[in-house]
Amino acid sequence: RAKTMGISTMQFFDPEMQAVETARDVLDVDLRRGLQENEFVLYYQPQVDSANKLTGVEALLRWPHPKRGLLSPGEFIAFAEEKGLIGLIGQWVLEAACIQLLRWSADPETAELTIAINVSALEFSHPEFVPRMLKVIDRTGINPKRLVLEFTERVMLGLTEDTVSKMRALKARGLYFSLDDFGIGYSSLGYLQSLPLDELKIDRTFVKDILTNPNDAVIACSIMALGASLGLAVVAEGVETQEQRDYLASQGCKAYQGYLFGRPVPIAELRLGRNVRNP
Ligand code: C2E
Ligand code: MG
Ligand code: MG
Ligand code: MG
Repeated sequence: RAKTMGISTMQFFDPEMQAVETARDVLDVDLRRGLQENEFVLYYQPQVDSANKLTGVEALLRWPHPKRGLLSPGEFIAFAEEKGLIGLIGQWVLEAACIQLLRWSADPETAELTIAINVSALEFSHPEFVPRMLKVIDRTGINPKRLVLEFTERVMLGLTEDTVSKMRALKARGLYFSLDDFGIGYSSLGYLQSLPLDELKIDRTFVKDILTNPNDAVIACSIMALGASLGLAVVAEGVETQEQRDYLASQGCKAYQGYLFGRPVPIAELRLGRNVRNP
């Protein structure tokens, strides 16, 4: 910027800003290379039922960066959105999840497992989102009922005809919809009824202090009641202790995810139970 403004403005140039700009440029180049070189990996975190039985996993994106080590989505997803790269990343995640579902489908011990992927609001808003997604589903031949799409309330924000019709088109093909981070959001509850949702995930901020903060407990319980009355499954996320799990169970919760049951791990480290091989 300083260059185009001429030499005279150079003295106002802020070296700290320059460093930030450079870091962003590097990340931009890095992300494009990472996509090209297939550097991303999916980690899988277990989801269990009331009997602690594995019912499925959430796929969480990781980027083993050649220089910076293992990066979490918090370190690059927002940037990828800004740079228009989220669509490519989302496609990669979808493909990788479908390939894993396909492997699992071949073994009766794993055939029923589901994989949840996270869909960013920006990605969802792309006009080609639905056809692109259906193309991958058709090409891989997975059972769409095993694929869970996790949306945040941001997707529902300013609920439009477009959102509703896209979700209905995907629902018609049998996909399963989960509303992620539920409870911290923005909007009225009205949209819950107008969308073909299947599941609510109680945000982990309410689970964290559920035993000590009555407000959090009230919210978590309200979400469970809401789910029950709307006929939606409810998953508690971020469950770290047996006490949290037992309290949630006592309030009617039937599905859990959190460090108590397992951290996100590469596929080879995922414990599927006895006699089950990782393909
Ligand atoms: P999320 O979808 O709500 O995923 C749950 C996050 O909570 C994950 O963080 C997970 O590692 C973490 N977590 C799970 N159990 C526990 C627990 O018991 N305690 C604590 N403290 N944390 C727990 P992660 O993997 O860093 O992902 C952060 C967010 O990044 C995700 O939140 C999701 O919104 C986004 N994300 C992850 N993968 C993708 C992706 O493939 N595409 C897009 N668009 N977003 C993604
Ligand atoms: Mg999620
Ligand atoms: Mg979540
Ligand atoms: Mg979250």
